[in-house]
This record gives sequence, C-alpha cells and structure tokens, in this order.
Amino acid sequence: MKHNATDKIQELHNFGEFGGVNPSISDSSTYTFLSAKTMFDTFEGNTEGCYLYSRHSSPSNLYLGEALAALEGTETANVAASGMGAITAVILQLCNSADHIVSSRTIYGGTYAFMKNFLRKFNISTSFVDITKTELVEKAITPNTKMIFCESISNPLLEVADIKALSKLAKKYNIPLVVDNTFSPLSIAPGKLGAEIVIHSLTKFINGTSDSVAGAVCGTKEFCLSLKDVHDGAGMLLGSTLDSLRASFILKNMRTLHIRMKKHSENALYLAQKFEKDGLRVVYPGLKSHSGYHTMKKQMITEYG
Ligand SMILES: *Cc1c(COP(=O)(O)O)cnc(C)c1O
Repeated sequence: MKHNATDKIQELHNFGEFGGVNPSISDSSTYTFLSAKTMFDTFEGNTEGCYLYSRHSSPSNLYLGEALAALEGTETANVAASGMGAITAVILQLCNSADHIVSSRTIYGGTYAFMKNFLRKFNISTSFVDITKTELVEKAITPNTKMIFCESISNPLLEVADIKALSKLAKKYNIPLVVDNTFSPLSIAPGKLGAEIVIHSLTKFINGTSDSVAGAVCGTKEFCLSLKDVHDGAGMLLGSTLDSLRASFILKNMRTLHIRMKKHSENALYLAQKFEKDGLRVVYPGLKSHSGYHTMKKQMITEYG
C-alpha cells in the first residue's frame, strides 16, 4: 500500500552546505545577528531561517524535526532531549493550575508517575481510564479537562487505542487528543487519524541503536511555536534541549526506520504465533486472541504493522 507518511519522508532531502549527502551539523550554542532588527524579530517569534540560541532551536534540531513531521504527516515538529522532556513540556503547555487530564491507565511508567505524583504540585489532576472504552473516556471529561492522553499501542501492555473514535470525542469537547506513538512509528499515523499532537520517545524504535535519549512533539506550527516561545514556552523554558550532534545521529538512523519496523513486526508476529501454538499465554495485537486486534487492523498501515 502506498502511504503519504512514508512517501513524504523519502522525499525529504536536506543536503549539507557543501553538498554533503547529510546536512551539516551545527556546533554553536549561540548565533550572530548582522542587524539589530533581525534579533528583535527573532525574539518576537519570527524565527524563519534565523537562530537565536540553541536551547530555542538549532539547524540540526530543525532538520530532525522536519523528518519527524514528515513521518507523522504534521505541519512541523520540535525535538527534545528525551521522550519525557517532550511529554512534560506538552502537558505543562496545555494545562494550568486546577486543570484536568483524561489519560489512559496503561501508559509508560514515567508518564504515569508524572501525572499521578508530580502534577499534584501544580494542582493538575488526572483521571486514568480504560482507553478502549470510549464511553468511560467521555464520562471522565469535566469542564476543566484540557487534554485526552493515550499511547497508540501502550508500553508495556500493548493496549490499542482507537484513535479515530478518541479524536472524534476530543473534537466534540474542543480539547486536543495527545498521542504518544513511540511504540508504532510508521505502523500507525495518529495525526492522520485525527490526533492533534503526536509525541515520540526517539530513544526506542526511531533511533533504534540504544545509544541515544531523545524525544519529539509533532503538531501544528502554532502549537510547536508556542512551545518554543521565549516568554512562556514550556519547551524553551524547561530546558530539555537535544544536542545537535545527537540530533544528527538520530536523523541518519531514521533512514533505515522503514526496513527496521517491517522486520520488527515480522519477527514479533512470528514469535507470538509460535508461542501461542506452544500453549503459552501471549499478548500481541497481531493475534486474533488480543482484545485490540480489530482496532489494530482497522488503523494500522499494513506495510509496517
Ligand atoms: C520510553 C518511553 C517514554 C519516555 O521516553 P524517554 O526518551 O526515556 O524519556 C515515553 N513513552 C513511551 C511509550 C516510552 O516507551
């Protein structure tokens, strides 16, 4: 099946300044301005082609961000120093004191701990629900709810969220659906199924060589710019900045993501089928015995699922 998400990423060519097949790595913490006006414009958020300070943005991080936006089919993407750096910035950007989150109860341990324990400091509360039951998700929404949060396929329980149904619900209440897609890059495209914000821990499949910690937020230009705002952007002010060198490593590893994801999925299905045949209890959404099998089938991109 031909799919836009991957077509776009394969079309993306960023060459180095001397024609290198890889974009040059920017190795500067800060940047020069040849006129005072350009500096003023950049502070005002008019950052097209201008760099201020590498905690705000850097060429290498922007290249990686472009690749991730092409992967998820979103307008743009910001990178962060870790998956948690991306998740916490999104939450703190969307929620104020006394706000509320509706989240899946089966999410990554760090995200769960952040919502359950850390957000208490800000009086932000979370209702943890069975995300596969849309009526329970709807029941948990209050006038203070600022986001619905889930993982497309949860880590580690492999629960499958019905992103289309959840996005319909989120739109009904005019709140964003935020999806952590760490477990299913290429095989599920939450942005195309209606999620407003797609988050990744690049530490896992996307980098793929267990040597880097990084994260990303894929979304609209408006939201990603708000995260970078020098006055009140959580991405900018919390300081979870990815180093340029790491960004360039991860970008190069992304070239093989489509081949790796295909093979991961083939291997996992092979093992799951064998184990099940041997009478072991297996939890894998590619098996008919899994409660998320039909949702998975409906929303996955078969070439990679
Ligand atoms: C690992 C992981 C995270 C956290 O990412 P880090 O890069 O370790 O901060 C978040 N969500 C999911 C689903 C993960 O697997």
